[in-house]
Amino acid sequence: MIGQSVRLTTIRGIAVGIHYSWFIIFLLITFSPTARFSAQHPQWTLFEHYAVAIGTSLLFFASILFHELAHSFVALAKGIPVRAITLFVFGGVAQIGREPDRPMTEFQIAVAGPIASAVLAVGFGVVAHLAGDQHEHIAALAGWLSSINLVLALFNLVPGFPLDGGRIFRAALWHATGNLAKATRIAARTGQAVGYAFIFLGIWTGFTVNWFSGLWIAFIGWFLLNAAQESVVQVSVRSALTGLVAEDVMGRDCPTVSDRMSLAELVHEHILKTGRRCFVVAEGSRLEGLLTLHHVKAVPQDRWTQVSVGQAMTPAAQLRVVEPDQPILEVLQILEGEDINQVPVVEGDRLMGMITRDHLLRVLSAKMELEIPERPGLSRTSAATA
Ligand SMILES: [Zn+2]
Repeated sequence: MIGQSVRLTTIRGIAVGIHYSWFIIFLLITFSPTARFSAQHPQWTLFEHYAVAIGTSLLFFASILFHELAHSFVALAKGIPVRAITLFVFGGVAQIGREPDRPMTEFQIAVAGPIASAVLAVGFGVVAHLAGDQHEHIAALAGWLSSINLVLALFNLVPGFPLDGGRIFRAALWHATGNLAKATRIAARTGQAVGYAFIFLGIWTGFTVNWFSGLWIAFIGWFLLNAAQESVVQVSVRSALTGLVAEDVMGRDCPTVSDRMSLAELVHEHILKTGRRCFVVAEGSRLEGLLTLHHVKAVPQDRWTQVSVGQAMTPAAQLRVVEPDQPILEVLQILEGEDINQVPVVEGDRLMGMITRDHLLRVLSAKMELEIPERPGLSRTSAATA
C-alpha cells in the first residue's frame, strides 16, 4: 500500500519514514492554519503567521508519530515485532510483524493510538489555557493541535476496519465468536460501509459547504474503502493457506553448491547459466548455509577467484529456518515479518527443501483459482483528517 518513502530515523528498531505524499499534508497544514491564524490575529506579521504555522505542522507530524509509536510500543511489549512506521498523506501506518494471537492483545494495541491522541489533545489544551493572552503564538499553536488531536482520536475510533475503531470492533467480534477470519470479514465489510459513507458525505459536503473539504472527505472515504477491501483479500489468503504446512509447499529440487567452490566458478558455472539468485550450500544433505546474489555483489569482482562460497555465505547457524510440519501461515509471517525472500526447510540439520516468496504466491494463486491476490501484508492503519 505504501511505496517510496524517506527514512528519517530508527526508534527501538522501528524504521521511521515519510512517504512523499506526506509533504502534501505538510503544505496543507502549513497553509490552512495560516488562514485561520490571520483571521483571528490580523495584527500578526507575515513572519509570525508562518513561524506559528510551520511549528504547528511539525508538532502535528510529531503527534501522528506519537500515535503510531503508542501502537508499536504496546505491540513490542506483547512480543510482537514492529518493522516500520511510515507517515503518509492520510496519517500513519505501523507495520506490525504479525497478527496478535488473542483478542485482548489486539484490543490493547488498537486502543493505545486513540488514547495517545486523546492525551495529546488534553496536554495541548492545558498548554493553550496556560499560555492564555500573554503568549498568544503558543496559545494559537497549542489550541489548534489540541483540536486536531481530538479529531484524530475520535476519527480513529470510527468502527471501520482497518481503522483503530474497526480493530477494536474486530477484537470484540473475535472474542464473541472465537473465529478471527469471520470477525475480520464482518469488520472489513463494516469498514467498506464506512468508506462509502465518507465518500457520500464528501460529495454532499462538496456541493453544499465547500468543495475542498468535500473532496478531502471523499478521498479519505476512498482510502478507507481500499484498505477495507485489502483486508478482505488478506482474510481469503489466510483461509486459502490454513491447513497447509511447510512440507506441502516447499520446493524439493533446490540446487546445492559446495562451500569450497570459488565465487568466480559459482558466477560463471551457475548464476550466469541458470539466472538463479539463491543457492543452498550443503554437504550431502547437511545444510551449511545460504548464498544469494547479494552476498556475491558484496565481494569486489577482482576477489571472486580467491573468495569461496563458504566465506561469502550466511552460515546455517545464522539462518532463519522452518520445520517441515510448521504451518504455512507461520512461514508467511516469517517471510513478511523479517522481510526475507526464502527460508530453508530443515529437520535437525538435514535440508528438506526451500520455500520462496514466489513459490508461495504461485501456490496461493492456484489455490484461489486464478483469483489474483495482492501481496499479503500486515499493516495497521490510522487516518487523519486535516
Ligand atoms: Zn491508530
